[in-house]
Amino acid sequence: MLTTKIINKLKSVVSDKNVLLEVEERFVYSQDATNMQNVPCLADAVVFVENETQIQKILKLANENKIPVIARGAGTNLVGACIPLCGGIILNFSKMNKILEINPSNMTAKVQAGVVVGKLAEEASKYGLFYPPDPSNLKVSTIGGSIALNSGGAKTFKYGSTKDYVISLKIVTANGEIMNIGSNTAKNSTGYQMPQLFIGSEGTLGIIVEAVLKLIPKPESSKVMLAYFDSISKAACAVNKIIEEKLYPATLDIMDKTTLKTIDDFCPTGLKYNYEAALLIEVDGYECSLDWQQHKISSILQNLEVKDIVISNSQEEAEKIWTARRSAFGACAKLAPNVETGDIVVPREKIPQLVDEIREICNKNNLMVCILGHIGDGNIHPHIPLDLNNEDDVKNYEKAKDEIHKLALNLGGTLSGEHGIGCEKSKYMKFAEDSIALNYMKQIKNVFDPRNILNPKKIF
Ligand SMILES: Cc1cc2nc3c(=O)[nH]c(=O)nc-3n(C[C@H](O)[C@H](O)[C@H](O)COP(=O)(O)OP(=O)(O)OC[C@H]3O[C@@H](n4cnc5c(N)ncnc54)[C@H](O)[C@@H]3O)c2cc1C
Repeated sequence: MLTTKIINKLKSVVSDKNVLLEVEERFVYSQDATNMQNVPCLADAVVFVENETQIQKILKLANENKIPVIARGAGTNLVGACIPLCGGIILNFSKMNKILEINPSNMTAKVQAGVVVGKLAEEASKYGLFYPPDPSNLKVSTIGGSIALNSGGAKTFKYGSTKDYVISLKIVTANGEIMNIGSNTAKNSTGYQMPQLFIGSEGTLGIIVEAVLKLIPKPESSKVMLAYFDSISKAACAVNKIIEEKLYPATLDIMDKTTLKTIDDFCPTGLKYNYEAALLIEVDGYECSLDWQQHKISSILQNLEVKDIVISNSQEEAEKIWTARRSAFGACAKLAPNVETGDIVVPREKIPQLVDEIREICNKNNLMVCILGHIGDGNIHPHIPLDLNNEDDVKNYEKAKDEIHKLALNLGGTLSGEHGIGCEKSKYMKFAEDSIALNYMKQIKNVFDPRNILNPKKIF
């Protein structure tokens, strides 16, 4: 509970209208996109920040009084990363949503942390530039949230994830200082790569207020192919062959039969769900290179017993395929009241084994599963529709979740390819990370946040 004195101080920093205190308001902001049956703890206040000076003052106040502070972008993370496990202040970034500069000569964008990822991509595109990280909810998720989780997306195979595009950050530290890290230059070997430390830090080391992001030239054109196979292993084999032939598609995604059917039932786009798996392959680059790439890939696929290939012949057709792919989560939500998902990642060669064993685990635990993901990155999302009000479903899911994460580790993979750890996967950290490394991570946390006010009880 915050004292009246603290609440009045908060109001004097950001004005009355920017502090939410009603229980209903605090309830709403004490949840994120993660499935939680019960809200474990309510935030004490939700504060809409408008500039860095306000954030500095709030953090000074919070640090002096040992009040937890949880930064919140769009609250779309799936790992409980925004849930105020110890109460405290939610810092809402929705009013810090300005694109401050797009610099076509430097090919950089300077943005506030609350800028929506898709909005930046759209603005950059007006300059012929491209911001590739594209979480499938890019129309709502924010730059701050995606940096704090190192979000990826469907184009990570070719273009990398958020970590590859952050060149400098302005941070407000736990004690309210402003710290600028990195440099707005194409290259930088000046000491420790500090921005990398804050990427994936889930709001536990400092509050990101501004970022300078690298942009790249926008590919002139793109084409989408859907290739159907009668087994996951044949689809995986095709992916390896495409890579071995040194082709470099922007996207190499997979959807299994159940996913294809579920999506098509939800939004009919003509997906062929009589096959076991479909590869979604996007090639991009100069217009004149697209037919060549497409023919090369088609001939590889033909040699690997592809059952059918559908190729987009217009932007509209490509968009239709992408809409179907991006609808997967929503479509699964039609199957049961809730959907749980994960984002384990394994060396690519282990994908067929991973998929087979995830299915076995779900089957054994009486759970349905739609398997899809970024096969080019070895990153799989098992979407598990279930009813969290049903005790058996909950028990079965908890067991399956443990087994799936253990399986990924046994296959030489790790817990998260893009969603992060939050409080949902923190119990597995000791199995995934070297104990000495884990110990250093905790020491780093302690250096930046000795009073443990920044998003406590997350990651570890
Ligand atoms: C339907 C759906 C599809 C998704 N698809 C993808 C996908 O394809 N790829 C992918 O990687 N993820 C995906 N996600 C997961 C998630 O939405 C993304 O990781 C997203 O980028 C998080 O952004 P956000 O603004 O919602 O962050 P939030 O959920 O608000 O916050 C996430 C974390 O960042 C911290 N944070 C937020 N702002 C700041 C700040 N200014 N300073 C410091 N810390 C901060 C928070 O404290 C929290 O720890 C998906 C989620 C949903 C619901």
